[in-house]
Amino acid sequence: MEFETNFAYICPDCLRIYGCKLNVFRFSGGQAHKFICRSKDCLADCASIKKTAPDQYNIEVLCPFCDEKHSKRATFSGIWQRPQSTVRCPNAAADIFFYGQDRDAINGLVNRTTEVFERSFSNGYTGVPGSDPMISEILMNLERLMSDHQISCVCGSENISFELRGSSILLICRKCGSCKELRISKENLMRLINASGIVLGH
Ligand SMILES: [Zn+2]
Ligand SMILES: [Zn+2]
Ligand SMILES: [Zn+2]
Repeated sequence: MEFETNFAYICPDCLRIYGCKLNVFRFSGGQAHKFICRSKDCLADCASIKKTAPDQYNIEVLCPFCDEKHSKRATFSGIWQRPQSTVRCPNAAADIFFYGQDRDAINGLVNRTTEVFERSFSNGYTGVPGSDPMISEILMNLERLMSDHQISCVCGSENISFELRGSSILLICRKCGSCKELRISKENLMRLINASGIVLGH
């Protein structure tokens, strides 16, 4: 039997989600294993697991919802033999760290958390332009894609303008008028962070 477990974690700073598979020997050295954001411009600490006794692990997670540290104790079998387990944020009532043998189940749980992201954002969103950090994060990512020539229109133009319309950002081709609406949401922000390009008129 191979003692390997799937892990998934969320960067509390840039909200990227990562998955990895780790072997039991990774935790035998007495030092904490750190889960770090893999984005080169972030590299934030996301979580750590330390083996504190032969049958005890301590999991600490920096919460993407409330910026607190949440911890949980797990047993050996809890980490290496269960199909799915999570660390939960008690404030947001959402799972923020995921581990277990069943990869599909883990992915399902991660998806549920991204839905909570979406909800907690749309509840708290006041609609005041420029006041929400999400808008500037989305705009920053759009600008990054723009300067990398990753935003274009089916007509071939790269002359695109952004406009804030209610709770959406509208991308408009200045040449042919094609547009694309991008709803302001954490889900879209995460998509944008991982996007390699946007084409208008699709
Ligand atoms: Zn990050
Ligand atoms: Zn929390
Ligand atoms: Zn166009």
